[in-house]
Amino acid sequence: MAAPTPKTQRSDRDVLNLLAKRARTLHLGPANYCWFTDPSRALCLKLAGTPTADRPLVGMCDSARCPQATHHPCHRPVWAEHAERTKTFLGQLGAPRKTERTRLQADYDRALRVVAEIDAASTIKDEESA
Ligand code: SF4
Repeated sequence: MAAPTPKTQRSDRDVLNLLAKRARTLHLGPANYCWFTDPSRALCLKLAGTPTADRPLVGMCDSARCPQATHHPCHRPVWAEHAERTKTFLGQLGAPRKTERTRLQADYDRALRVVAEIDAASTIKDEESA
């Protein structure tokens, strides 16, 4: 199954506008914003087997695959560093370690996809303000 496309918000102003409307549901994290509007859609709760919990499980957050996450320019360094670190580990894995390689490759691809989505959203914003 293909992972869903990571979501991005285009500007901090967009986030502030949304924050005014959704102060109770917005959770700000170092790698993403979590819009906890519908527990049944929260990937962390699905992974934990607690789909009716009333708050997100940040420790199990997998924002690149969660429909309730958005990623912003302020999150880019975290994802870029994660991609770089994962790339280093991939380069050090021996050929027989196929399971680890598959998992790390998926992590790496996911991190690159988030970075690309953030960059694409930033480019659109730059073009709109030009
Ligand atoms: S997986 Fe992350 S973004 Fe999604 S609901 Fe849980 S904490 Fe929020």
